[in-house]
Amino acid sequence: MFNRRSFLAGATLAGLAAPAIVRAQGLLRDFPFKLGVAAGDPASDGFVIWTRLAPEPMERHGGMPLANVPVDWEVASDTGFRDVVAKGTELARPELGHSVHVEIAGLQPDRPYYYRFTAAGERSLRGRARTLPAPGAKVEALKFGVAGCQHYESGFYGAYRHLAREELAFVYHYGDFIYEYQQDYLYDSGLPIRPVRRYAQRALIDLDDFRNAYAQTLLDIDQQAVRSVHAHLSSFDDHEIRNDWVSDIDNWKMGLDGNDPDAAPPEVFMLKKQAAMQAWYEHMPVRKALLPRGGMVAAHREFRYGDLMAMQLLDTRQYRSDQPCGDGFKPACAEVSGKDAQVLGKAQEDWLARNLARGGATWNTIAQQVTMMSLDRRRKPDEPAKILNLDSWAGYEAPRERILSRFAGLKNCVVLTGDEHQNFCGDLVLKDKVVGAEFVATSISSGGDGSDKRQGTDDWLQLNPELKFANDLRGYLVCEVGREAWQTHFMVVDKVTTPVNTLSKRATGVVENGVAGIRMA
Ligand code: FE
Ligand code: CA
Repeated sequence: MFNRRSFLAGATLAGLAAPAIVRAQGLLRDFPFKLGVAAGDPASDGFVIWTRLAPEPMERHGGMPLANVPVDWEVASDTGFRDVVAKGTELARPELGHSVHVEIAGLQPDRPYYYRFTAAGERSLRGRARTLPAPGAKVEALKFGVAGCQHYESGFYGAYRHLAREELAFVYHYGDFIYEYQQDYLYDSGLPIRPVRRYAQRALIDLDDFRNAYAQTLLDIDQQAVRSVHAHLSSFDDHEIRNDWVSDIDNWKMGLDGNDPDAAPPEVFMLKKQAAMQAWYEHMPVRKALLPRGGMVAAHREFRYGDLMAMQLLDTRQYRSDQPCGDGFKPACAEVSGKDAQVLGKAQEDWLARNLARGGATWNTIAQQVTMMSLDRRRKPDEPAKILNLDSWAGYEAPRERILSRFAGLKNCVVLTGDEHQNFCGDLVLKDKVVGAEFVATSISSGGDGSDKRQGTDDWLQLNPELKFANDLRGYLVCEVGREAWQTHFMVVDKVTTPVNTLSKRATGVVENGVAGIRMA
């Protein structure tokens, strides 16, 4: 069928001798905002707004001409854009996948704003984001979401539709936004089940592959819904590059003992990481300071919510020493107590110490990726020795004790974690003293439907008295923070194998101001 747009795009591309600026209406082959819009990294006077021009998201360069394209943006105080408070133009460059990251400033604190983009005569849908309260302002209440781990094949993103309907200041995304592999088989209650949908590629190697994985994920309408209504604090974990990577080490060991011969040597892994982190940057609503440089992303950052909460967002992958004892779930070997082991690296640890020492907030929140409690992972009490998750802080006893010692000198430390694909929470204990609380958020889809209780959960809870709750359904956390108490609601969906599902509040963990540790409501 004759299509005016593709005819014009073809004609224009053929006529392009050198990269040129595409301004005119109708020059793109199709609607360019198919990946939606997003906002992130809020401050008291603004946030980042994001979009990526991609009329054909799964094609090379998103189906865009290899030219810079101006994108007009507007921020308004009302949904109808009658009161536009900021506007401008940003170039979408082919080198960055025609993504745009606009850092908005000069807005009023603690209120919602609306934003939209226009390019080549087409207009995006409308996004919404809230600014943070003014620094140090007296704030009595905060509600925010925690989500992540969204293997595309394991389930639909119905949980995101529910999260989009919550009244929140922002969402902390702890990572595993994409996964680098197709899932050959999934199990539910010991029986094989069919993946609900397929990743476009078996594996991700170069920039184009990683871009495609993000594009496919962002074509999901529930994913777009949640990104369009809540500012996101975006992080990455392992699957944005490769399972269990740390530093420059490709730790591919899926189901194998020892190293897989497919694992890349460090110098090759760093090239792949550079491509993966570029694609991550291109698709996340993060500030320009997070553009990868030499393959590294300056991902750790602080967000303060008036005088109520100071949140330190950590990076537990880029500066970490190799997992001890060959990684995996195993009994501890001597390496677990290695004095030189690092989780955050010295520079980030010093930065964290300075930020924690500044005080000025009722709640000290640590938003990060892997479990900080050193849990016995046995599911059967007849297994002979304590088993650790060596990819978590439990595999790094010296840095774990250092961070818990800092908590011991503070009040109201709350750690937010992902990675585990199950809900649990418990007390952070240093030498028999409770020094903080940890809430581990389940996944949006990874792991499939799940069930209320994994096999062996009762034994697991009994082996670990610091654990207060465990559950194996999908969903997200809602943290309701007040002056007197912090409540974390475990919001769960009944299933992810259907696009539409039912949400319920499974449990609430409470931390009282001045009392370290969690009690279940
Ligand atoms: Fe995950
Ligand atoms: Ca992970």
